[in-house]
Amino acid sequence: MGSQGGLLKTNFNLFSLMSFMGLSSDCLLCGCSVHFNQSLQRPNEKHPNKSASVLNKKICDSCHAHLPESKQTCFVCGLPSTTKSIPCGACLKNSPPYDKTISAFHYQQPISDFITQYKYAGKLELLPIMTDYLINAIEKSLKLEHSIKTQMPELLIPIPLHFKKRNKRGFNQSRLIANVLSKHFGIPVSGNDITRTRQTLTQASLDVTQRKKNLKNAFEIKETLPERVAIIDDIVTTGATVSELAALALEHGAKHIEIWSLARAYSI
Ligand SMILES: [Zn+2]
Ligand SMILES: [Zn+2]
Repeated sequence: MGSQGGLLKTNFNLFSLMSFMGLSSDCLLCGCSVHFNQSLQRPNEKHPNKSASVLNKKICDSCHAHLPESKQTCFVCGLPSTTKSIPCGACLKNSPPYDKTISAFHYQQPISDFITQYKYAGKLELLPIMTDYLINAIEKSLKLEHSIKTQMPELLIPIPLHFKKRNKRGFNQSRLIANVLSKHFGIPVSGNDITRTRQTLTQASLDVTQRKKNLKNAFEIKETLPERVAIIDDIVTTGATVSELAALALEHGAKHIEIWSLARAYSI
């Protein structure tokens, strides 16, 4: 891996990232300015008349190349798949209660560190980097499906946190992601009518069966939903949380449900 600068050469760690935060003229991940400036001048290859991707404004080419972007995945569940146009075998066999998953990243380093720091240490400055990639993935997906007239969701539903957890953390990480997407795409975010009615154990400590049991009746929806909605989560692991909320959304009027997440874990 002959990286010129960027993540590998700088032996990236989160503290070096933080030290470079706020230097808007440099790459937000490694601090290099040379590659960043090159990125700014790099034309959009497919659409030369359009400006370069929003991603290029914040991250240099080398750092960009080393982020674990989600690729070659089943469009329904978001797990690796060789079939692009049809659901993977698991989805064909046991269809989940949602239609599509778009994740910006595979949940691995350094993204797993970014999300941990964002969520548990309140490093909110990491959010725009990751949401830029998610916006990019959503727009890419829309372009792919242009021929079948994809319609955007009419409502964004961030996975609700129990109010005690939200108060302790100070924010709902999924709601902040939804707010960024809302602003970019002009889609409203659901309000207080969709809640987590009881505190659940942290999913990470449970196996697949326990996760499903843990979430049973954890959510409540007190409104009629539009037909097309997107559920917003930071990380989709087994899919148990989004499935529970999606199944409930189907009972409340939703007909086409997408899952939009920063990262998708490929194996648990
Ligand atoms: Zn960089
Ligand atoms: Zn699948």
